Amino acid sequence: MTITTKVVDIVKDKMTIVKHSETENICLVGPVKLPVKQGEFSATFQWYNWVKVDSNLSKEEIIDGLATANLAFSQQSSVLVYGDFANEEDVLIRMHSICHTGDIFGSQRCDCGYQLHESMKMIAEHGCGAIFYLADHEGRGIGLFSKSLAYLLQEEGLDTVEANHALGFQDDTRSYEEAITVLTALRSKPVTLITNNPKKLAALQMHGLTADGHIPLWGGVTETNRFYLDTKVEKSGHIRDMK
Ligand SMILES: [Zn+2]
Repeated sequence: MTITTKVVDIVKDKMTIVKHSETENICLVGPVKLPVKQGEFSATFQWYNWVKVDSNLSKEEIIDGLATANLAFSQQSSVLVYGDFANEEDVLIRMHSICHTGDIFGSQRCDCGYQLHESMKMIAEHGCGAIFYLADHEGRGIGLFSKSLAYLLQEEGLDTVEANHALGFQDDTRSYEEAITVLTALRSKPVTLITNNPKKLAALQMHGLTADGHIPLWGGVTETNRFYLDTKVEKSGHIRDMK
């Protein structure tokens, strides 16, 4: 089936083709208006979604191929933008790694759900910013299935870093290249990164992030995630805010 020109006309102005590498482009779609409500907090974000495509494909060819691309079998990352992100001088961003258990189920084995929702609030209160939700970052890059095994190992006394190693993974295999390509397409001025991990800021800067600093985000500590958070401080370079 060929997509009608009417459909192409409606969506193509909201599609941007961004060069990612010699052979790949990123097809960025948005903004899509996304009103959100979580408890007392509500705000309207602009949502952008992206997918990597061959660099020789036109917008029409990308749209034409969607129905057979099986995109539901792979995960797509996206970004929630708030305010005039391209032009505002002082903006906050968060690079949030997907956490199926924490973000969706509210698991208290980690503080990801707290960090996600709190950073959305921080950005809305600040007036401008973006939250990148990175879909291939589950379990610091080990995937959801392996994460369940890592949790079983943690119940036997291994910490979060040791458990990933015991399953044959490096501790952290997350890549930020796509997110940085998208960020650069949305904004060229510097940003402030919301993170407790200065190493993450340094790694992102090495990959081309223009950031002039970072601000921490603590507060989601509970009895069930205390050991996990201690490990992040002791082994992964996180700095605890003592306030
Ligand atoms: Zn988590």
